[in-house]
Amino acid sequence: MNRRTLLRTGGMAALGFGFGACAGKSAPTEPVMRSGPRPRPANDLVPVNCSWGRVIHTTVGLRPFRESGFRVEPEKLDGKTIIHNYGHGGGGMSLSWGTGYLAADMALAHTSRRAAVLGSGAVGIAAARQLQRRGFDVTIYAKALPPHTTSNMSLAGWTPTSRVITTTRRTPQWDEQFRFAAEQTYRELQLMNGRDYGVTWIDRYSARDEIPPERVESSRRLLPSHLDTGREVLGPGEHPFPLKYATRERRMRIEPSIFLDAILRDFMLFGGRTVIREFSSPRDLMSLSETLIVNSTGLGSKDLFDDQEMTPYKGQLTLLAPQSDVNYGTGGGLHSTSGETGVGLHMTPRRDGIALGGTAEKGEWSMEPNEEARQQIVDGHIEFYNAMRRPWRTT
Ligand SMILES: Cc1cc2nc3c(=O)[nH]c(=O)nc-3n(C[C@H](O)[C@H](O)[C@H](O)COP(=O)(O)OP(=O)(O)OC[C@H]3O[C@@H](n4cnc5c(N)ncnc54)[C@H](O)[C@@H]3O)c2cc1C
Repeated sequence: MNRRTLLRTGGMAALGFGFGACAGKSAPTEPVMRSGPRPRPANDLVPVNCSWGRVIHTTVGLRPFRESGFRVEPEKLDGKTIIHNYGHGGGGMSLSWGTGYLAADMALAHTSRRAAVLGSGAVGIAAARQLQRRGFDVTIYAKALPPHTTSNMSLAGWTPTSRVITTTRRTPQWDEQFRFAAEQTYRELQLMNGRDYGVTWIDRYSARDEIPPERVESSRRLLPSHLDTGREVLGPGEHPFPLKYATRERRMRIEPSIFLDAILRDFMLFGGRTVIREFSSPRDLMSLSETLIVNSTGLGSKDLFDDQEMTPYKGQLTLLAPQSDVNYGTGGGLHSTSGETGVGLHMTPRRDGIALGGTAEKGEWSMEPNEEARQQIVDGHIEFYNAMRRPWRTT
């Protein structure tokens, strides 16, 4: 489907907005069936000023996907203890503090209180902080520091299940680790909220023409129910979007550049050191003075530790110039064209720009933007926001 056909045929439905049937029409008047109090209307939302002229850049990152989920476990290698902590897929920002907690607890079984952490993405820095909290003297070794990590290219919402869980290869033990990691990270991010860590709550809307069905996804069942912030259904006339219905959820938003700088600064303040160094094989690790090593090299673990389960899940975002009066997000789920690869429209406002997404291309190693996807994402959002009603208030 080319760009023109996509737009002509109501491509937004195909891209996850469900856009089409009533685009551009005034809001229909039929009531939404619901019990309980009416939700707060959302008619004062300012549309994103979306045009090709406002595009500032497109970023690409390779999510470190592992077929059977992230790996947190110790391994002996000659005289060293390696604690693996990698393979977080599309959920590394949402699980990092929890898997770091698990890794740091495993480290306590070791006699030394000096530790090396390999990797300086969200997962490595969070693990290093968890080790410091347990009294370890920590050095991070990494071939690149923020802002040159995959974690900096992240969206990054609290999405612990995103490209993390697979249905066939999970074990009950892994599920338990996952729940613990999700809950710990949620708590940690909560404590950072409003404290200059780039972690905040925003409303996120998804627009559609049908009454949204009940949520029954297995991914939600895997999460503790108290972590589900719930959602409201807004009916015709209660929201400005060019479709009949919209759902509203509270979502945690992490602004990756602010967040990573802040936690790396904390690591240094607590006496941590960083060393720029690339490791080519486990043999290279033998030259480290530390006997305890936490491996958080993300996708780098594929070659470094010959983990053939590791696969990139390429993702890209296109940033528009910042717009401070947009204080909500929009989006639908990923529309998958092959079950594992696709484009899904979503928008998140950040201080570094309005982030438009997104893509997921399994097995794709290229760091070049996918131009066709970029066109679909920007054009899809232009169409959506042009059709959105301008702010008005109910009396
Ligand atoms: C477009 C996009 C959107 C995303 N959205 C979300 C989201 O909404 N929520 C969410 O939770 N997650 C999201 N993610 C996923 C998230 O970004 C990753 O799960 C996370 O960044 C993984 O962190 P990491 O620290 O394991 O890896 P990285 O950030 O890649 O860090 C790895 C570190 O290891 C170092 N390293 C690697 N190999 C070697 C080596 N051989 N020697 C020395 N050092 C090495 C690197 O230099 C780097 O410092 C998204 C990702 C993308 C691309």
